Amino acid sequence: MALRTLTKKGNPILEKKCKDVKEYNESLWTLLDDMRETMTKNNGCGLAAPQVGIIKNIVVIDVNNMQLELINPKITYQSKETEVDVEGCLSVDGISGYVERPRVVTVKANDRYGNEFTITGEGYLARALCHEYDHLQGILFTQKMIKPYKPDKEK
Ligand code: ZN
Repeated sequence: MALRTLTKKGNPILEKKCKDVKEYNESLWTLLDDMRETMTKNNGCGLAAPQVGIIKNIVVIDVNNMQLELINPKITYQSKETEVDVEGCLSVDGISGYVERPRVVTVKANDRYGNEFTITGEGYLARALCHEYDHLQGILFTQKMIKPYKPDKEK
């Protein structure tokens, strides 16, 4: 495994719509392992492939001690009920802020071998799924941010 270099806000790679993965092979598995290591070393709870410079529909998530790998994810359900909470991003230094997200989402995706699965997440997991899915569409949370979070001004 190897750490990959994070792309940062302003890099056009982060604004591109990603392409579907078609081959489930060793280079995909190496990328997934590297993404997980890069996420963990940077204390992230999610990472999308464009954040390591790869314009493909690949996401890793680590929330509530659950590690997920999602290839070609699609959101198949989102609750009308929403929640507003604070988000940050490994590609956006020095900014975190409040974003409104559905409280519950269901995502259909493939695992690293190409087998389809479905995951439903609530609360923070739903938020992570939406945040990472947005990366694959070329969207950063700062585009959806209601207001910045300033820890020194809030209790
Ligand atoms: Zn992010």
